[in-house]
Amino acid sequence: MAVTDHVDLPTFMEGVKKRNPGQTEFIQAVQEVAEDIFDFLADKERYHREQILRRIAEPDRVVSFRVCWEDDNNNVRVQRGWRVQNNNAIGPYKGGIRFHPSVNESVLKFLAFEQTFKNALTGLPMGGGKGGSNFNPKGKSDHEVMRFCQSFMTELYRHVGADVDVPAGDIGVGGREIGYMFGQYKRITNQFTGVLTGKGLEYGGSLIRTEATGYGAVYFLANMLKTRDQDLVGKTAVISGSGNVATHAAEKATMLGAKVVTLSDSSGFIHDPEGMTQEKINWVKTLKNVRRGRISEYVDQFPGSSFHAGKTPWGVPCDVALPCATQNELLGEDARELIKNGCIAVSEGANMPTDLDGVHVFKAAKILFAPGKAANAGGVAVSGLEMSQNSARISWKEEQLQQLLVDIMDGIHARCVEYGQVGGGHCDYVRGANIAGFKKVADAMLAYGVV
Ligand code: NDP
Repeated sequence: MAVTDHVDLPTFMEGVKKRNPGQTEFIQAVQEVAEDIFDFLADKERYHREQILRRIAEPDRVVSFRVCWEDDNNNVRVQRGWRVQNNNAIGPYKGGIRFHPSVNESVLKFLAFEQTFKNALTGLPMGGGKGGSNFNPKGKSDHEVMRFCQSFMTELYRHVGADVDVPAGDIGVGGREIGYMFGQYKRITNQFTGVLTGKGLEYGGSLIRTEATGYGAVYFLANMLKTRDQDLVGKTAVISGSGNVATHAAEKATMLGAKVVTLSDSSGFIHDPEGMTQEKINWVKTLKNVRRGRISEYVDQFPGSSFHAGKTPWGVPCDVALPCATQNELLGEDARELIKNGCIAVSEGANMPTDLDGVHVFKAAKILFAPGKAANAGGVAVSGLEMSQNSARISWKEEQLQQLLVDIMDGIHARCVEYGQVGGGHCDYVRGANIAGFKKVADAMLAYGVV
């Protein structure tokens, strides 16, 4: 069959929409990848014949289960849990667990699909998966969170394993939740293996895992700026979110000389025109991780700053932007505003924070734009290193891990540049990341035949 006989992009996307009704986030993620891959595949008969993209866009399996737990007032609560195992062509499924009321099958399928490409980009042997629950940890006591995590793992343990599927943290799942889930896994299976990453240092966790996603997103940003003979010194940075990724992105950006002027949460953003210091960032970390407070409290602590309720920070003039909160938090109109105000580079710390319209705006303007699957891959990369350390039953030193993270982010940047050249010396990082990630997974799938 000639290549021209294969379905075109609109027909392919029609099929994806028909098979996944109402799953808007998943369809959006597939569309973004397919736009680049169809172009790349135009003269590659074998990938078409073997239906590789069609197969990657169909998860290996989606496990859905009931999670019952009792709150502190002895009410029985019922939540839904999922694990999406998207593709294990190049290694065990790997990807975080998210606890947030917005979690549904579409969100987890999009995240597992993206994770497949991201993990391939790291150069480490990891497939793609994602899981979570619509459980809302906000306002819950430690005991409630513990009971929920134990109940969640009581079902999840059947589907995961150190060589099968290795979850980690994500929105609403940090060190506390990983500890409760790992404890329950160990209790049920009587095995101490690297079944989860993001563990505490006392029980098999890796140094710098906590920092890795945010730091990595800033390293990627610095690498992009370097292609234009620039660096972060003196640049004004706008960051969204105030969780794990946002605070560590703020920390590394500050260390490299940038002035970080915003952070946010789901209730609004704070603007600190003086810029953040390590002391201020540490205060935010304690606010979020220990006191579990709201970002609006920043303005009481640091005079001169202001809180903007219900707003995102994209209207604040900046040189560089790092969306680090959640999906679809930066829309087309925000992208236009950022460019109008002089923003030259965007590095996505979150997964798919820019909607499709925004991606098209950034691409058309030819600014330096790093998609999450490349820019935020530092977290899963260090998770991969945690898996290696667990398998070998050793712990690597901090300096060694810091260097490995830098090297891995350099490698991802180089892979994007290799496949993302669009003429005139400009790199389309979205295209580069999509093609480089796809090619690795696709070639492994070709080797296996039709399975
Ligand atoms: P956290 O739970 O630590 O922080 C999430 C932050 O985003 C909080 O400030 C939260 O505010 C805000 N947020 C969440 N949902 C929304 C929403 N609907 N609207 C506005 N703000 C929101 O999560 P992480 O920092 O770990 O994750 C942030 C992003 O980075 C996610 O997209 C995640 O998938 C991605 N990521 C994370 C990795 C990691 O290693 N942790 C690895 C790679 C990607 P509030 O407190 O009000 O909910």
